[in-house]
Amino acid sequence: MQTAIATVSLSGTLDEKLEAIAGAKFTGVEIFENDLLSFNGTPREVRGIVDGLGLRTITFQPFRDFEGMAEPQRTRVFSRAERKFDLMQELGCDLLLVCSNVSPEAQGGIDRAAADFHELGERAAKRGLRVAFEALAWGRHVNDYRDSWEIVRRTDHPAVGLVLDSFHVLVRGTDLRPIRSIPKDRIFLVQIADAPLLDMDYLSWSRHYRCFPGQGELAIGEFMAALQATGFAGLVSLEIFSDRFRAGSARSVAIDGQRSLLFMFDRLRQATGAAVPGIRALPPPSKVAGIEFLEFAMDDASAAPFERFLAGMGFARAGLHRSKDVTRWRQGDINIVVNREKEGFAHSFGIVHGPSVCAMALRVDDAAATVARAVRLLDRPFRQAVGAGELHIPAVRGVGGSLIYFVDDKSELGRLWDVDFAPVADTGGADAGLTRFDHLSQTMYFEEMLTWLLFYTSLFDVQKAPVQDVIDPSGIVQSQAIEAAGDAAVRLVLNASQSRQTMASRFVDDFFGSGVQQIALASDDILRTVGRLTANGIDFLAIPENYYDDLGARSDLDPGRIERLRAANILYDRDGAAEFLHAYTRTLDGGFYFEIVERRGYRGYGAVNAPIRLAAQARLARPRDLPGR
Ligand code: MG
Repeated sequence: MQTAIATVSLSGTLDEKLEAIAGAKFTGVEIFENDLLSFNGTPREVRGIVDGLGLRTITFQPFRDFEGMAEPQRTRVFSRAERKFDLMQELGCDLLLVCSNVSPEAQGGIDRAAADFHELGERAAKRGLRVAFEALAWGRHVNDYRDSWEIVRRTDHPAVGLVLDSFHVLVRGTDLRPIRSIPKDRIFLVQIADAPLLDMDYLSWSRHYRCFPGQGELAIGEFMAALQATGFAGLVSLEIFSDRFRAGSARSVAIDGQRSLLFMFDRLRQATGAAVPGIRALPPPSKVAGIEFLEFAMDDASAAPFERFLAGMGFARAGLHRSKDVTRWRQGDINIVVNREKEGFAHSFGIVHGPSVCAMALRVDDAAATVARAVRLLDRPFRQAVGAGELHIPAVRGVGGSLIYFVDDKSELGRLWDVDFAPVADTGGADAGLTRFDHLSQTMYFEEMLTWLLFYTSLFDVQKAPVQDVIDPSGIVQSQAIEAAGDAAVRLVLNASQSRQTMASRFVDDFFGSGVQQIALASDDILRTVGRLTANGIDFLAIPENYYDDLGARSDLDPGRIERLRAANILYDRDGAAEFLHAYTRTLDGGFYFEIVERRGYRGYGAVNAPIRLAAQARLARPRDLPGR
């Protein structure tokens, strides 16, 4: 199969869109009529640009309200079609996409429609052109692909074929099995779009909520499996109407699109066990077994108080980098690396973002294979100079320009801490019972959220949870969790908000971009851990008394236990017999904060308590508390 994308999916002018499409290695492009009309150049000039970029215009679209018209409209739609054919010949495009008629004047009747398409096919064939018929989910008489296929079948003309658009097929919940018996040479074009599951009219759903495959919740895999059963090996094209995508840069959205198709083909190959024609297999999705370390970019002024904080949190200084001004702090299986170099990646990152998480390292089964898969998925690998004898840790770019390093046990990377770091006599805090990273929350611009969702889900063997809406005092924050498949050994939460004043939006505004805002660490005994940290002088976020009064009213927890939670500012949630206890530190310079988490069989993130936490944080975040960066 070959990949294409419709110009309507991207922002910018037609020439900008075409450059982005070529840059993302697509073979073909669907030219959307409005993009041509608004372009300051002739169709022949567009053809020159398309050819010059090594692209091919696979279709011109859309041609609306065609079939089933009575006279005199019927004559008019045919002369309108002839004008489109003229334009297509100038563009160097041989396929006109015809959407099913939505006009109230359209007459029903499959044979009437077939007769119209037969005549259109005759006219197109005279010019060496073709037409393809697409059933819109909201078409007046034809809104089901089985009907559009029946019309194409009865038309019985070599210049007339079918368009299958996954959105129109899947949102109606149509049976996918009949796709398998459509002859592959009658399918002229396959359009792919995913979408979240919503309860709204098909037209609004389509116009505003389409997204790339894998970013939504439609059964794209089943659709593709049915298509593959036909033996279809032609063009698969992305047609995405999305306000979000048009707010993003054409270049990065086009790359997301290509990545989504490569990922879709990869999953298809895994699901069916059959090679996808024309698509080279990717290395398998990388299994993530844990977060090996989190690296903070700091300058001398910010590093000193942060390291005092780490000591208060029970971390011990466990190693000094052999050639760099980098310190390893450790507690349980948690490694925190403080980088105060005066040059290099972390330093540059710190200049832009201030004190912040500049990198995370994931423990994977095969670091080299992970990077190989990332490169094939058009992710951006990263390399920097290392000292003599030190390890080159493979990495790709992550959220906000940060890095994601990969370490494994099968290579010398398993000896990272011994090779790159010299041990120091233990100094710092006494262990406070923190055992491992529970999860990291990355806050990002709303427009980026689907990009990073696709990045993580395509590269790693992970599962996504449903999107949750969290109530911030100043608006809604969308929250999406991603967890390592099976054991949730790594948990990441993506947060973004469209409201300018939420904590999430203020974080990306105040700290110049997206990044890690919350670091959740696990304890087996949160009461004991919080007690020790409080004794060490760590400030916890004060939770209002009302919360505990309400907890007493709505739960059967005994009053003594509620009193202990209240005294320690610990929040509580329960799911069946599973319990979740969590507490938050005050926000540190840099805008990030730590959460202490105790899970007793609980799988979620305490979303029910998020409004309480966000309101408590908002009370503290007066302007004077915000750094002047
Ligand atoms: Mg379509």
